[in-house]
Amino acid sequence: MTGVSRSQDLLQRLAATVSGEVTGPGSAGYDAGRSVWNAMIDRSPLAVVRARDLGDVTPVVACAVQEGVPLAVRGGGHGVAGNGTVDGGIVLDLGSLRSVQVDAASATVTVAPGATLAEVDAATALHGLAVPVGVVSATGMAGLTLGGGFGWLTRAHGLTVDSLLAAEVVTASGTTVRATSQENPDLLWALKGGGGNFGVVTSFTFAAHPLPARVFCGNLVYTRPHWERALHALAAWTEDLPDEMTSIVTALTPPPGWAMGTEPLLVVGFAWAGTDQAAGEACLATLTDQAPPDDREVGPTEWTAWQSAMDGLFPRGVRAYWKNTGFAHLDDDVIGILCTRAAEQTWQGTAFDVHHMGGAFARVRADATAFPDRASSFWLNVYGFWGDPEEDERNIAFVRGLARDMEPHSTGAQYVNFMGREAAGARAADPWSAAMQVYGESTLRRLAAVKHRFDPDNVFRLNHNIPPMAP
Ligand code: FAD
Repeated sequence: MTGVSRSQDLLQRLAATVSGEVTGPGSAGYDAGRSVWNAMIDRSPLAVVRARDLGDVTPVVACAVQEGVPLAVRGGGHGVAGNGTVDGGIVLDLGSLRSVQVDAASATVTVAPGATLAEVDAATALHGLAVPVGVVSATGMAGLTLGGGFGWLTRAHGLTVDSLLAAEVVTASGTTVRATSQENPDLLWALKGGGGNFGVVTSFTFAAHPLPARVFCGNLVYTRPHWERALHALAAWTEDLPDEMTSIVTALTPPPGWAMGTEPLLVVGFAWAGTDQAAGEACLATLTDQAPPDDREVGPTEWTAWQSAMDGLFPRGVRAYWKNTGFAHLDDDVIGILCTRAAEQTWQGTAFDVHHMGGAFARVRADATAFPDRASSFWLNVYGFWGDPEEDERNIAFVRGLARDMEPHSTGAQYVNFMGREAAGARAADPWSAAMQVYGESTLRRLAAVKHRFDPDNVFRLNHNIPPMAP
């Protein structure tokens, strides 16, 4: 069979078995269907299935298995590594399945696999509840959860996975299995950081936590002369903070129109997850007394507004290359590196965040989830978001350069959701070593055994791949 007729045969077969839209090369909607958030990823699948309901999942998995073609599973499409699309395979796009059901009595939320953070936040906020999620609201809940999930509630309530109570998964054999602390607990454990390795997750159930409708949060802005002082003050402040306070430092050159001009800035963002705003203000004052900002915008803010405040910087279709690492101390050397690099980066398009961890995140036992590291006090994410392909080289060099500078200070921890092309999945030259670098031996062996049980032939390999291995 020629390539063209094979592709048409596949498209016809899929169209006959699913209720969602099926597109292939040349058909209307194909280009939109094959693209993902990161415009550097340009791949040509044989078919893209936009699932209309959960009944579409099993036939698509079966078709990929029978045809022996790779299967890309997509939620919100924000995976920076671009594993939500694939050359010569099938894309299962779950982005239309967005229902979010809140059970206020039990403070639980059940989320369909295409829901974004925006939909989860909007639904839970109506009940004075929140699930800890990420900080850009168009991100997909599925990919974010399966990797871990950092955000403004990390110190108060842990990662997104720390609130994951149950999931339903369609495995490579087409069977639907439930994962809870009672049923298939090893699968639930593996889904908490092991990525999309074990099947298509069709439903996630989370514990939700009380949160005021308006949260005390905001940004402290520092211009170049004040960065060292701000970071030294932050280092001292973060040594002993209540769990309610989560902060993220961002260094960036602001986009046109920002009131603070066009020179690089350091922004200390924070959110106070407590009900007592005065306590939050007092806590923040212990930082600002030591390092008064050049500008500040702080106060009680609607949670959903705060959660979408950064969206404008990250539109779909920007070019992106990211690297990350955990580190233990915001000491003089690290502060020196961060300030030097931030000052050099005088163009728009790259930035970095320093997440302060600890709190509830750090109290979760290391082996309680597959998330690889609970010990790093800080996490650096160096990222790009630019538009012009001519700027690829410069921006990628910046990301790599800062990551390289930080190597001597790194705890070695890496977060799969902040990895770029290095999350190459089964395409990595040595997938076992690549996975070992992220998970370490004991977690990887446990993950590989769960993988062996649910996906022995590695059908779900477009992810940061866990090679299957019998225990
Ligand atoms: P997708 O590309 O759709 O999915 C990513 C991968 O997850 C897929 O390749 C697949 O392997 C797997 N997958 C997706 N859905 C399923 C499913 N139903 N079943 C099985 N496997 C599935 N992360 C944070 O922790 N905190 C943040 O604040 C944060 N901010 C971000 C901001 C931006 C602008 C971007 C681009 C990313 C951000 N991230 C953040 C990283 C984000 O968590 C990951 O990119 C995540 O993979 C996105 O999930 P998605 O569903 O949108 O992506």
